[in-house]
Amino acid sequence: MLKRTHYTDEVKTGEVVISGWVKKVRDLGRVKFIILRDCKGIVQITFKRGIVTDSLFEIIEGLGQEDVISVRGNVVKRENTPQGVEVIPSEVDIVDKAIRPLPMDISSKIESNLDVRLDWRVLDLRRPETAAIFKIQAKIVEAIMKFLSEKEFLQVFTPCLMGTASESGAEVFPVVYFDKNAFLRQDPQLHRQLLIAAGFDKIYDLGPNWRAEPSHTPRHLCEYRACAVEFAFMVNESDMMRVEEDLIIATLKTVKKECQKELCLLKKEVSIPKTPFPEFKFPKVYDVLEEFGKRIEYGEDYDRESEMILSKYVKEKYGNDFFFVNKFPYKVKPFYVMKVDEEPQWARSVDMIYKGLEQSSGGQREHRYEKIIQQIKEKQMNVNSLEWFTKFFKYGVPSHGGFCLGIERFVKQLLDLKNIREGVLFPRAPERLLP
Ligand code: ATP
Ligand code: MG
Repeated sequence: MLKRTHYTDEVKTGEVVISGWVKKVRDLGRVKFIILRDCKGIVQITFKRGIVTDSLFEIIEGLGQEDVISVRGNVVKRENTPQGVEVIPSEVDIVDKAIRPLPMDISSKIESNLDVRLDWRVLDLRRPETAAIFKIQAKIVEAIMKFLSEKEFLQVFTPCLMGTASESGAEVFPVVYFDKNAFLRQDPQLHRQLLIAAGFDKIYDLGPNWRAEPSHTPRHLCEYRACAVEFAFMVNESDMMRVEEDLIIATLKTVKKECQKELCLLKKEVSIPKTPFPEFKFPKVYDVLEEFGKRIEYGEDYDRESEMILSKYVKEKYGNDFFFVNKFPYKVKPFYVMKVDEEPQWARSVDMIYKGLEQSSGGQREHRYEKIIQQIKEKQMNVNSLEWFTKFFKYGVPSHGGFCLGIERFVKQLLDLKNIREGVLFPRAPERLLP
């Protein structure tokens, strides 16, 4: 087998060995063109009778779309080709053949419907536009980790198998765990708080979470990834907002700088928002919404439509795609949030919205033992079943807080994907567990 020496985008001059998939064959009788695609792009290979041996013509007889080949050849300049060059082959190795017709069109000319694309995901991922989403996603994660590492946040891994649910208990996937009931985590909330109790000053956990939500929305997955950031000695939730917006800016700048090729393929531009991001607080949120004819009962949670209304308002008034919502009603938030001491109806609980969709939830957590116990009772949860968590709060815990940013949600909004599933290699949704 021929050993690859160059990717298609490195083919400039001299002898090369390139490997990849046949994107297209054009047969003009005395000349045959093969467009070869690899992970970096495409290049033309030109077989001309008299220049290329007859035996090579025999070898490539019958080659077609998605066959895998390696080609040795010489590079010559040629206008009107994708790279301004073509390869004149001297040797062709057929690595594997594909069955045709393919079950979906991958020429990028016809957009198949998303379900077909996901059923045939491996073929769909061969489309450069689809692959570009994941190159950008990887860059986002790399940029997030670089930012956090430079700010001295320690990367930690906390358990995915839980003995109790961290929120109310709804929406968790049960797991058979020997002779016990266990759950898949909804997010790494409680263990990251425990690490703050352990004296870890700044941490983040980037990993999978699961939600047994039978909803079929374009923004929910049953398995998603999130970057959960937590830090100690927080004065108030503003500290967390400043960290999060700096992280967003650093990430967007990196994508803008390092993913030009992919952004171009997807016809997207990245704009860098101004900081600080606008912030709305409950109960004022009700008044703003009322101005737009949206009535929410005082003390109640807002809804999807409210997120969109506020987004439109922020975009028009401040020109920003991002904003924070703070001081959510305590009654709609989990037991571990910190209430505003003087106004306990409201929690130090913050969401970040990007182009009309929630990206993260966070805020300041309650670190005082008595208050945690009281809040568990208020939420009508079982104090004993959370003792494994609460007992550590008896022994001195700093004020703390953080946020949990959904990776796929961020990719969706950045690239204006219609459905979050487009931004997941192999999405898990209520009706989709394969491939
Ligand atoms: P929403 O109300 O939009 O469904 P949530 O408030 O239930 O979200 P959180 O529990 O706050 O979600 O989770 C933190 C973050 O994780 C969210 O802001 C979002 O970015 C992401 N996230 C949560 N649930 C999902 C899901 N089912 N699919 C994809 N991402 C999710
Ligand atoms: Mg939330």
